[in-house]
Amino acid sequence: MSVSQLARSIKESPTLKLNETAAKLRDKGEPLIHLGGGEPKSKAPIDAVVNCATQLNTGDIKYAPADGLPVLKKAIVRYTEEHYNKLVGPDNIVVSSGAKQSIMNLLYAMLEPKDEVIFPSPYWVSYPEMIKLAGGVPVTVTPEDGTFHPRIEEIAEVVGSYTKAIIINSPNNPCGVMYSKDFIAEIVRFCEKKSLYLIMDDLYNRLVFEGKTAPNSYEFETVQSRNSRLVTVQGVSKMYAMTGFRIGWAIVNEELAEAMTNIQSHMTSGPATPSQWAAIGALNGIQNSIESLRLTLENNRNIMIERLRAFKGIKVTKPDGTFYCFPDFSAYMKDSQKLAEFLLEKVRVATVPGKEFGMDGYLRLSYCGTPKDIMDGLERIKWALDPDSPNELFLGDRKLVRDWL
Ligand code: PMP
Repeated sequence: MSVSQLARSIKESPTLKLNETAAKLRDKGEPLIHLGGGEPKSKAPIDAVVNCATQLNTGDIKYAPADGLPVLKKAIVRYTEEHYNKLVGPDNIVVSSGAKQSIMNLLYAMLEPKDEVIFPSPYWVSYPEMIKLAGGVPVTVTPEDGTFHPRIEEIAEVVGSYTKAIIINSPNNPCGVMYSKDFIAEIVRFCEKKSLYLIMDDLYNRLVFEGKTAPNSYEFETVQSRNSRLVTVQGVSKMYAMTGFRIGWAIVNEELAEAMTNIQSHMTSGPATPSQWAAIGALNGIQNSIESLRLTLENNRNIMIERLRAFKGIKVTKPDGTFYCFPDFSAYMKDSQKLAEFLLEKVRVATVPGKEFGMDGYLRLSYCGTPKDIMDGLERIKWALDPDSPNELFLGDRKLVRDWL
């Protein structure tokens, strides 16, 4: 069987593959600790479940408008006003099957063949593949000062005649760093000046720690309404712990919204209506689940950082938000793919290689699990890597003996 050149150019999602491997190992009874996950452990808000169940109970589950149910759009209008202080209308909203599809629709609607899309490194694994799928060319910018914070000059340097858009994800998956207010102001103004689309992937912007709040890109926008090229992407997956419902949305100008809706109407006809009812419940219901998730994650982050700082040779940047941390393990092994395989094989801890996020030598570690998983997982990793560790480690009643280092 032969597949297209495009299909051959697309890698599988390393994070989804890892979930599969982890599930298989668990099914076999292996004592796996999953520090590679990308979803909160908490349950969906009760208002989401009830609203969805009520809809299901009617048995009347039919096609909806391709760009989303009007009631959901109304809830999104209110959400955008409350959290971005931005008034948008239903014609500025396209609801999709997850923020992933929102970004994909945006790229299909924006890009001409060979157009370039810039994004800072480390980056979310799907950006390069999505851009390629839409016929574009991914261009990454790695901060030269060794931090995870790009500078506007570094981005400006790679902008050329083919540049169409810039994607900013802050706080960032995989490093948890939130870009400064100054940087957000600069990038909004820069994109306006250069007539570039700016895609703000704000999926984690409510999951921020220590009383900080994510800068609001709309605050710095001067070109408003129909000509705005500022786009925000949001969704219920992370903040409401509703990854399985697959609901995300984009806030865009009317022209882009129409184009995205047309594209989506031929691809999926729109997101599943029970999921949209769940999202309506989440957005209109009691909001305390976000704060309790945020507090849990902040506590987990502190545990992870404290444990990581006890490792010799690991460099770690304290995340401002998300549920990921991106330590530099290159002192132990430079090839992050090999390191992740080694940790899975020897001590049954799942991590994601930094290479997938554009930076080798690093591992993405998630702290969306339980504090016990974080502590035990890091203890196993330390045991596997630290030559001063004792020769044996017990995982339950299984004795591991170090036959390496
Ligand atoms: N953007 C980023 C930065 C993400 O981490 C993810 C999910 N891992 C998405 C978008 C897609 O989210 P969704 O589940 O809503 O498709």
